[in-house]
Amino acid sequence: HKSQKQQTEFRSVTEKMNEGLIVLGEKGNVLSINQAACKIFSCLSKDVCGENYVMISRDEKFCDGARRAMSGESVEEKLDIFGRVYQMMANAIYDDDEINVSGAVILILDITEKYRAEQQRREFSANVSHELKTPLTSISGYAEIIENGIAKKEDIPRFANMIHSEAKRLIALIEDIIKISHLDEKNIPMEAEDVDLYDLCDDVLKKLQSRANQDNISLKLNGDHISVKGVKRLLFEMVYNLCDNGIKYNKAGGTLTLSVVQSDKAVQLIVSDTGIGIPKEHQSRVFERFYRVDKSHSKETGGTGLGLSIVKNAALFHNAKIDLESTEGIGSKFTITF
Ligand code: ADP
Repeated sequence: HKSQKQQTEFRSVTEKMNEGLIVLGEKGNVLSINQAACKIFSCLSKDVCGENYVMISRDEKFCDGARRAMSGESVEEKLDIFGRVYQMMANAIYDDDEINVSGAVILILDITEKYRAEQQRREFSANVSHELKTPLTSISGYAEIIENGIAKKEDIPRFANMIHSEAKRLIALIEDIIKISHLDEKNIPMEAEDVDLYDLCDDVLKKLQSRANQDNISLKLNGDHISVKGVKRLLFEMVYNLCDNGIKYNKAGGTLTLSVVQSDKAVQLIVSDTGIGIPKEHQSRVFERFYRVDKSHSKETGGTGLGLSIVKNAALFHNAKIDLESTEGIGSKFTITF
């Protein structure tokens, strides 16, 4: 009677677990499998209980892990099941004599998100190293030519100018990398305040006015004074990057228009330009880190390839949605919905 009570308790605890839990008996037969494990392997408890563990899944790593655990090994394995990533931990259960294996316990944790984040971080580090190397290589090259006295005297100012602009690129890159790392770590001091988006847009445009004049782009601001709760510095960064692109990828004599509007229950900030546009096949990818439609044009204009990924992360941070509509040769429209 006592053991029955214990079993009920065991079940009520394990059924509530998010982790998959499987208990195997002496011969590798399934003694118990909780709901989470059934879901992971897409099986039914009644079909597998009493059967060998291979009835749960034919996955090679899972079966091998279970077999090794039954032979006394302490197992840790990464499993790929139906497109998700799991960590499997399995250990033998011993008899009272502590020599004979009487079964095994298998715990399965869903680590898909953690795994993807790690993968993204690894890719990011590899890309960063590559992106930093390119300007450094040319700085080193120009400096070497000057050092060796190969450069003609009249060429030296031009080389110095190259070194200067590549160094500026490096600084811009590093600044963007620092911003994005902060956003990744989510360790932004939460000074959430009411931010008037219209005033914010006005500030951004003032900062970009002289750049716009150089390229003969007119800047416009429409809409109302509407406030959202947010981190001002991040919101500024977000609008600044969008406007910076709207000027960089515009055509001479073009326009960049900002609007702050209230639609239904949402507040929208719209940045639209009359520039070169983004081809359809690139539209879903421009928010990726270091993704550029035209690498050489982006570099000419001092782009780092990180601007829009900072925008995306900052929007995510504010629970805002970002949409892109663009037509090649006509222009682009970025809509942030708070
Ligand atoms: P970059 O530093 O290269 O501008 P971003 O992340 O800001 O990097 O943008 C990624 C790419 O998306 C750019 O290289 C460019 O090809 C494209 N892009 C971004 N904004 C616009 C725009 N307003 N018009 C046309 N193309 C754009």
